[in-house]
Amino acid sequence: MEKKEKKPGFFAKLKQGLQKTRGGLLGMIFGGDERINAEFYEELEDAMIMADMGFDTTEGILDELKARIKAEKITERSAAKAALVDILTDYMANDTPFLAEEGDNVILIVGVNGVGKTTSIGKLASMYKEEGKRPMLAAADTFRAAAAEQLTIWAGRADVPIVKHGEGADPAAVVFDAIVSYKAKKNDLLICDTAGRLHNKKNLMNELAKMRRVIDRELPEAHVEVLLVLDATTGQNAIAQAKAFGESCGLTGIILTKLDGTAKGGVVVAVKNELGLPIRFVGVGEGIDDLQPFDARAFAEALL
Ligand code: GDP
Repeated sequence: MEKKEKKPGFFAKLKQGLQKTRGGLLGMIFGGDERINAEFYEELEDAMIMADMGFDTTEGILDELKARIKAEKITERSAAKAALVDILTDYMANDTPFLAEEGDNVILIVGVNGVGKTTSIGKLASMYKEEGKRPMLAAADTFRAAAAEQLTIWAGRADVPIVKHGEGADPAAVVFDAIVSYKAKKNDLLICDTAGRLHNKKNLMNELAKMRRVIDRELPEAHVEVLLVLDATTGQNAIAQAKAFGESCGLTGIILTKLDGTAKGGVVVAVKNELGLPIRFVGVGEGIDDLQPFDARAFAEALL
Protein backbone atom coordinates (compact mmCIF):
# COMPACT_ATOMS: atom_id res chain seq x y z
CA MET A 1 0.00 0.00 0.00
CA GLU A 2 1.33 3.39 -0.93
CA LYS A 3 1.65 5.97 1.78
CA LYS A 4 -0.49 9.02 1.28
CA GLU A 5 1.38 12.29 0.90
CA LYS A 6 1.20 14.38 4.03
CA LYS A 7 -1.42 17.07 3.69
CA PRO A 8 0.05 20.56 3.55
CA GLY A 9 -0.53 22.28 6.85
CA PHE A 10 -0.15 19.14 8.90
CA PHE A 11 3.30 19.99 10.18
CA ALA A 12 2.33 23.63 10.43
CA LYS A 13 -0.33 22.60 12.92
CA LEU A 14 2.09 20.34 14.72
CA LYS A 15 4.65 23.11 14.95
CA GLN A 16 2.02 25.60 16.03
CA GLY A 17 1.03 23.25 18.82
CA LEU A 18 4.62 22.79 19.86
CA GLN A 19 5.24 26.53 19.49
CA LYS A 20 5.38 27.21 23.20
CA THR A 21 8.19 24.70 23.50
CA ARG A 22 9.93 25.88 20.36
CA GLY A 23 9.46 29.59 20.83
CA GLY A 24 10.22 29.19 24.51
CA LEU A 25 13.18 27.47 26.03
CA LEU A 26 14.10 25.00 23.31
CA GLY A 27 14.00 27.74 20.67
CA MET A 28 16.10 30.13 22.73
CA ILE A 29 18.74 27.55 23.49
CA PHE A 30 19.46 27.05 19.83
CA GLY A 31 19.31 30.68 18.78
CA GLY A 32 21.96 33.35 19.36
CA ASP A 33 24.66 32.11 21.69
CA GLU A 34 26.67 29.34 20.03
CA ARG A 35 28.77 28.31 23.03
CA ILE A 36 28.41 24.83 24.42
CA ASN A 37 28.95 25.22 28.14
CA ALA A 38 27.45 24.15 31.46
CA GLU A 39 24.69 26.74 31.02
CA PHE A 40 23.73 25.19 27.69
CA TYR A 41 23.25 21.75 29.24
CA GLU A 42 21.30 23.18 32.18
CA GLU A 43 18.95 25.17 29.96
CA LEU A 44 18.48 22.20 27.67
CA GLU A 45 17.67 19.90 30.56
CA ASP A 46 15.08 22.38 31.90
CA ALA A 47 13.53 22.76 28.46
CA MET A 48 13.27 19.01 27.93
CA ILE A 49 11.63 18.48 31.31
CA MET A 50 9.23 21.36 30.59
CA ALA A 51 8.36 19.73 27.27
CA ASP A 52 7.40 16.63 29.29
CA MET A 53 10.08 14.24 28.18
CA GLY A 54 10.28 12.95 31.74
CA PHE A 55 13.33 12.89 33.97
CA ASP A 56 14.85 9.52 33.05
CA THR A 57 14.39 10.01 29.34
CA THR A 58 15.87 13.51 29.51
CA GLU A 59 18.94 12.27 31.37
CA GLY A 60 19.47 9.43 28.91
CA ILE A 61 19.25 11.75 25.93
CA LEU A 62 21.57 14.33 27.49
CA ASP A 63 24.17 11.65 28.23
CA GLU A 64 24.07 10.57 24.62
CA LEU A 65 24.28 14.14 23.39
CA LYS A 66 27.31 14.84 25.59
CA ALA A 67 29.03 11.70 24.32
CA ARG A 68 28.36 12.68 20.73
CA ILE A 69 29.50 16.25 21.19
CA LYS A 70 32.74 14.90 22.63
CA ALA A 71 33.28 12.17 20.05
CA GLU A 72 32.50 14.41 17.09
CA LYS A 73 34.31 17.42 18.59
CA ILE A 74 31.20 19.58 18.17
CA THR A 75 31.78 23.14 19.34
CA GLU A 76 28.66 24.99 18.20
CA ARG A 77 25.04 24.75 19.28
CA SER A 78 23.75 24.56 15.72
CA ALA A 79 25.77 21.36 15.20
CA ALA A 80 24.65 20.07 18.60
CA LYS A 81 21.07 20.66 17.51
CA ALA A 82 21.51 18.43 14.46
CA ALA A 83 22.99 15.73 16.72
CA LEU A 84 20.03 16.10 19.10
CA VAL A 85 17.56 15.67 16.21
CA ASP A 86 19.35 12.40 15.34
CA ILE A 87 19.25 11.16 18.92
CA LEU A 88 15.57 12.06 19.38
CA THR A 89 14.77 10.35 16.09
CA ASP A 90 16.50 7.17 17.29
CA TYR A 91 14.59 7.35 20.57
CA MET A 92 11.22 7.58 18.80
CA ALA A 93 11.88 5.50 15.71
CA ASN A 94 10.19 2.21 15.03
CA ASP A 95 10.29 0.25 11.82
CA THR A 96 8.08 -2.72 12.63
CA PRO A 97 5.27 -3.00 10.09
CA PHE A 98 1.79 -1.95 11.10
CA LEU A 99 -1.12 -3.55 9.23
CA ALA A 100 -0.79 -6.65 7.08
CA GLU A 101 -0.75 -5.75 3.39
CA GLU A 102 -2.96 -8.70 2.52
CA GLY A 103 -5.76 -10.40 4.43
CA ASP A 104 -7.69 -9.31 7.50
CA ASN A 105 -6.71 -6.57 9.90
CA VAL A 106 -8.36 -5.67 13.19
CA ILE A 107 -7.59 -2.58 15.25
CA LEU A 108 -8.90 -2.39 18.82
CA ILE A 109 -8.94 1.17 20.09
CA VAL A 110 -8.63 1.63 23.86
CA GLY A 111 -8.19 4.63 26.14
CA VAL A 112 -9.99 6.67 28.80
CA ASN A 113 -12.98 8.81 27.83
CA GLY A 114 -12.26 12.14 26.21
CA VAL A 115 -8.80 11.36 24.85
CA GLY A 116 -10.03 11.25 21.25
CA LYS A 117 -10.84 7.60 20.56
CA THR A 118 -13.98 8.20 18.48
CA THR A 119 -12.41 11.03 16.52
CA SER A 120 -9.28 8.99 15.82
CA ILE A 121 -11.33 6.01 14.63
CA GLY A 122 -13.18 8.27 12.20
CA LYS A 123 -9.91 9.71 10.92
CA LEU A 124 -8.33 6.25 10.60
CA ALA A 125 -11.31 4.91 8.68
CA SER A 126 -11.18 7.83 6.30
CA MET A 127 -7.41 7.55 5.83
CA TYR A 128 -7.45 3.82 5.10
CA LYS A 129 -10.47 4.14 2.84
CA GLU A 130 -8.60 6.74 0.79
CA GLU A 131 -5.67 4.34 0.64
CA GLY A 132 -7.92 1.71 -0.92
CA LYS A 133 -8.75 -0.43 2.09
CA ARG A 134 -12.32 -1.44 3.02
CA PRO A 135 -12.74 -0.45 6.67
CA MET A 136 -15.71 -1.26 8.88
CA LEU A 137 -16.42 0.10 12.37
CA ALA A 138 -17.68 -1.78 15.42
CA ALA A 139 -19.24 0.42 18.12
CA ALA A 140 -18.18 -1.74 21.04
CA ASP A 141 -18.28 1.09 23.57
CA THR A 142 -21.77 0.18 24.66
CA PHE A 143 -21.38 1.87 28.03
CA ARG A 144 -22.48 5.28 26.79
CA ALA A 145 -25.23 5.66 24.17
CA ALA A 146 -23.51 8.83 22.97
CA ALA A 147 -20.39 6.86 22.03
CA ALA A 148 -22.20 4.83 19.34
CA GLU A 149 -24.00 7.97 18.12
CA GLN A 150 -20.74 9.87 17.75
CA LEU A 151 -19.10 6.95 16.00
CA THR A 152 -22.05 6.70 13.61
CA ILE A 153 -21.52 10.34 12.64
CA TRP A 154 -17.86 9.61 11.94
CA ALA A 155 -18.76 6.50 9.93
CA GLY A 156 -20.95 8.75 7.79
CA ARG A 157 -18.17 11.29 7.29
CA ALA A 158 -15.68 8.58 6.35
CA ASP A 159 -18.35 6.77 4.32
CA VAL A 160 -17.71 3.37 5.91
CA PRO A 161 -20.19 0.84 7.37
CA ILE A 162 -20.72 0.55 11.11
CA VAL A 163 -22.22 -2.15 13.34
CA LYS A 164 -23.76 -1.13 16.67
CA HIS A 165 -26.12 -2.41 19.36
CA GLY A 166 -28.09 -0.63 22.04
CA GLU A 167 -26.64 0.88 25.20
CA GLY A 168 -25.56 -1.74 27.72
CA ALA A 169 -25.16 -4.51 25.14
CA ASP A 170 -22.29 -6.97 25.44
CA PRO A 171 -19.31 -5.41 23.58
CA ALA A 172 -18.15 -8.88 22.51
CA ALA A 173 -21.57 -9.45 20.89
CA VAL A 174 -21.15 -6.21 18.92
CA VAL A 175 -17.74 -7.40 17.75
CA PHE A 176 -19.20 -10.80 16.81
CA ASP A 177 -21.99 -9.23 14.73
CA ALA A 178 -19.54 -6.82 13.17
CA ILE A 179 -17.34 -9.73 12.07
CA VAL A 180 -20.34 -11.53 10.51
CA SER A 181 -21.15 -8.41 8.50
CA TYR A 182 -17.46 -7.79 7.77
CA LYS A 183 -17.11 -11.27 6.27
CA ALA A 184 -20.34 -10.97 4.28
CA LYS A 185 -19.34 -7.60 2.84
CA LYS A 186 -15.72 -8.66 2.28
CA ASN A 187 -14.18 -5.83 4.28
CA ASP A 188 -10.47 -6.02 5.14
CA LEU A 189 -10.07 -3.74 8.17
CA LEU A 190 -12.24 -3.84 11.29
CA ILE A 191 -11.79 -0.95 13.72
CA CYS A 192 -13.39 -1.50 17.14
CA ASP A 193 -14.18 1.22 19.64
CA THR A 194 -14.13 0.15 23.32
CA ALA A 195 -15.32 1.64 26.60
CA GLY A 196 -12.66 3.54 28.51
CA ARG A 197 -13.54 2.48 32.01
CA LEU A 198 -10.17 2.49 33.63
CA HIS A 199 -11.59 2.97 37.13
CA ASN A 200 -12.98 -0.54 36.85
CA LYS A 201 -9.91 -2.33 35.65
CA LYS A 202 -11.10 -5.87 36.23
CA ASN A 203 -14.27 -5.29 34.25
CA LEU A 204 -12.35 -3.62 31.46
CA MET A 205 -9.86 -6.46 31.36
CA ASN A 206 -12.65 -9.07 31.16
CA GLU A 207 -14.43 -7.12 28.46
CA LEU A 208 -11.34 -6.68 26.34
CA ALA A 209 -10.31 -10.31 26.81
CA LYS A 210 -13.75 -11.46 25.68
CA MET A 211 -13.66 -9.25 22.57
CA ARG A 212 -10.23 -10.61 21.82
CA ARG A 213 -11.43 -14.21 22.11
CA VAL A 214 -14.21 -13.49 19.62
CA ILE A 215 -11.75 -11.93 17.17
CA ASP A 216 -9.24 -14.77 17.53
CA ARG A 217 -11.97 -17.38 17.05
CA GLU A 218 -13.86 -15.74 14.16
CA LEU A 219 -10.89 -14.23 12.33
CA PRO A 220 -8.00 -16.52 13.34
CA GLU A 221 -5.74 -15.36 10.53
CA ALA A 222 -6.24 -11.64 11.17
CA HIS A 223 -3.46 -9.28 12.11
CA VAL A 224 -4.62 -7.63 15.36
CA GLU A 225 -3.41 -4.29 16.73
CA VAL A 226 -4.40 -2.86 20.11
CA LEU A 227 -3.84 0.88 20.04
CA LEU A 228 -4.01 3.06 23.13
CA VAL A 229 -5.18 6.61 22.51
CA LEU A 230 -3.42 9.19 24.68
CA ASP A 231 -4.14 12.91 24.96
CA ALA A 232 -0.81 14.74 24.65
CA THR A 233 -2.09 17.66 26.72
CA THR A 234 -2.18 15.43 29.78
CA GLY A 235 1.61 15.23 29.70
CA GLN A 236 3.13 12.75 32.10
CA ASN A 237 -0.31 11.48 33.14
CA ALA A 238 -0.41 9.81 29.73
CA ILE A 239 2.42 7.55 30.91
CA ALA A 240 0.39 6.46 33.93
CA GLN A 241 -2.60 5.65 31.69
CA ALA A 242 -0.41 3.66 29.35
CA LYS A 243 0.96 1.61 32.24
CA ALA A 244 -2.53 0.87 33.58
CA PHE A 245 -3.88 -0.14 30.17
CA GLY A 246 -0.75 -2.12 29.46
CA GLU A 247 -1.55 -4.26 32.50
CA SER A 248 -5.14 -4.78 31.29
CA CYS A 249 -4.55 -5.66 27.66
CA GLY A 250 -1.63 -6.35 25.38
CA LEU A 251 -1.02 -2.98 23.78
CA THR A 252 0.82 -2.87 20.47
CA GLY A 253 1.04 0.88 19.92
CA ILE A 254 -0.07 4.42 20.68
CA ILE A 255 -2.13 7.12 19.00
CA LEU A 256 -1.21 10.49 20.46
CA THR A 257 -3.91 13.13 20.00
CA LYS A 258 -4.20 16.88 20.49
CA LEU A 259 -0.62 17.72 19.65
CA ASP A 260 -2.02 20.91 18.15
CA GLY A 261 -2.97 22.13 21.60
CA THR A 262 0.09 21.51 23.70
CA ALA A 263 3.64 22.52 24.35
CA LYS A 264 4.18 19.12 25.89
CA GLY A 265 5.04 17.26 22.71
CA GLY A 266 8.09 15.82 24.42
CA VAL A 267 5.82 13.24 26.00
CA VAL A 268 6.11 11.35 22.70
CA VAL A 269 9.76 10.68 23.47
CA ALA A 270 8.96 9.59 27.03
CA VAL A 271 6.12 7.28 25.92
CA LYS A 272 8.32 5.45 23.46
CA ASN A 273 11.31 5.29 25.80
CA GLU A 274 9.53 4.35 29.01
CA LEU A 275 6.92 2.00 27.58
CA GLY A 276 8.70 0.65 24.54
CA LEU A 277 5.48 1.09 22.54
CA PRO A 278 5.64 2.57 19.05
CA ILE A 279 3.72 5.76 18.36
CA ARG A 280 1.65 4.83 15.31
CA PHE A 281 -0.34 8.01 14.65
CA VAL A 282 -0.50 11.60 15.85
CA GLY A 283 -3.57 13.83 15.87
CA VAL A 284 -3.30 17.56 15.38
CA GLY A 285 -6.90 18.73 15.19
CA GLU A 286 -10.56 17.87 15.03
CA GLY A 287 -10.85 17.56 11.23
CA ILE A 288 -11.02 14.28 9.35
CA ASP A 289 -7.55 14.80 7.83
CA ASP A 290 -5.88 15.76 11.10
CA LEU A 291 -4.32 12.36 11.78
CA GLN A 292 -1.12 11.11 10.23
CA PRO A 293 1.22 8.15 10.57
CA PHE A 294 3.97 9.09 12.98
CA ASP A 295 7.28 10.13 11.41
CA ALA A 296 10.05 10.21 14.05
CA ARG A 297 12.47 12.48 12.19
CA ALA A 298 9.83 15.00 11.15
CA PHE A 299 8.59 15.06 14.71
CA ALA A 300 12.07 15.54 16.16
CA GLU A 301 12.62 18.44 13.79
CA ALA A 302 9.26 19.99 14.67
CA LEU A 303 10.08 19.63 18.37
CA LEU A 304 13.33 21.56 18.02
P1 GDP B 1 -13.35 9.75 23.22
O1 GDP B 1 -14.21 9.99 24.42
O2 GDP B 1 -12.04 9.16 23.61
O3 GDP B 1 -14.03 8.97 22.15
O4 GDP B 1 -12.98 11.19 22.64
P2 GDP B 1 -13.57 11.98 21.39
O5 GDP B 1 -13.13 11.37 20.12
O6 GDP B 1 -15.04 12.18 21.57
O7 GDP B 1 -12.80 13.37 21.54
C1 GDP B 1 -12.94 14.22 22.66
C2 GDP B 1 -12.73 15.65 22.21
O8 GDP B 1 -11.39 15.84 21.78
C3 GDP B 1 -13.61 16.05 21.03
O9 GDP B 1 -14.06 17.37 21.24
C4 GDP B 1 -12.65 16.00 19.84
O10 GDP B 1 -13.02 16.88 18.81
C5 GDP B 1 -11.33 16.41 20.48
N1 GDP B 1 -10.15 15.89 19.75
C6 GDP B 1 -9.86 14.62 19.40
N2 GDP B 1 -8.66 14.55 18.78
C7 GDP B 1 -8.17 15.81 18.73
C8 GDP B 1 -6.95 16.41 18.23
O11 GDP B 1 -6.03 15.75 17.69
N3 GDP B 1 -6.82 17.76 18.40
C9 GDP B 1 -7.79 18.52 19.00
N4 GDP B 1 -7.57 19.82 19.11
N5 GDP B 1 -8.92 17.99 19.48
C10 GDP B 1 -9.12 16.67 19.35
